[in-house]
Amino acid sequence: MTSSEKFAVIGDPISHSKSPQLHNKFGDEFKVKLSYDKIHTHASELEARVDSLIEKGYRGFNVTLPLKEAMYKIGNLRGYDLSERSIRAQSVNTVLIRKEKIFLDNTDGTGFIKSMNYPHYFDLHKKNLLIIGAGGATKGILGPILDVYPASITISNRSFEKIALLRERFNSPLLSFNLLKDLNSESNLNEYENTGSFDVIINATSSSVSMEDSLINPKYFKKAKLIIDLFYAKKLTSFLRVAKEYGCNNVMDGFPMLVEQAAESFYIWTGLKPDTNRIIAKRDVFFE
Ligand code: NDP
Repeated sequence: MTSSEKFAVIGDPISHSKSPQLHNKFGDEFKVKLSYDKIHTHASELEARVDSLIEKGYRGFNVTLPLKEAMYKIGNLRGYDLSERSIRAQSVNTVLIRKEKIFLDNTDGTGFIKSMNYPHYFDLHKKNLLIIGAGGATKGILGPILDVYPASITISNRSFEKIALLRERFNSPLLSFNLLKDLNSESNLNEYENTGSFDVIINATSSSVSMEDSLINPKYFKKAKLIIDLFYAKKLTSFLRVAKEYGCNNVMDGFPMLVEQAAESFYIWTGLKPDTNRIIAKRDVFFE
């Protein structure tokens, strides 16, 4: 990498993003000079923003909510190089600007799988998974999760539309889908208490952002071995707090995934692999 390369993250909203802090830490580790900007970008400005970042000599950028799918579509239309991972997720979170051809990738799924090492390694193979939510995050993590062959994956979503899209995109006998209201129905719950078991429950909705209701009946937490909320905050999210109250002490938020997906982006841009363990262990620094 040449001296002081320019990077950025684009999205809407963007002020909350921890990416500049993370990438600056990665840069410090390798004594690489870089700048990393947060650039508020409305969906309607995306194409123009991409052109302006290229023109201004940025080396690469991250794409976050709600632009990941739109970035994939633009890349497809413009004939950019699309990684297998971005094609599978139909969304992009990492852009590498090369002279020859711009390269688009999605590091969310890899970030999620690597986050399974914290705080202790947890093997998803042959486990029964419940994923709540069917948006961009679920699309990103689903392919890599299927690759480790869990016993089953149930995806439950508030509304039908995103379930239909996922069902069309991912065709696997391991997958089943239902509506959140059906999952929480008395009859489903009774059946689950008698015969069911979710080993891992993942909250991949954006409900923790507003710390709303408990999403699923807390009885589902009782038999689980690991509960994950992809959202991250200084304190335990309400979803994880309720899970603990119902007896599951093995809980994890989305911070390890955030660090791992960022490290994978950094690797794509620089060829350098940051020490993610060290950063995850010092998470409090990022929430001051
Ligand atoms: P999307 O907007 O694409 O999808 C949001 C999902 O949440 C939809 O399935 C939506 O259901 C559901 N939802 C929203 N509010 C509620 C609610 N009150 N009750 C039930 N369901 C609800 O968002 P993403 O998939 O991109 O992000 C989801 C979460 O994952 C966010 O918290 C985000 O911060 C986190 N994330 C974390 C990452 C990390 O590195 N840790 C990376 C990417 C995302 P419906 O279809 O009915 O609208």
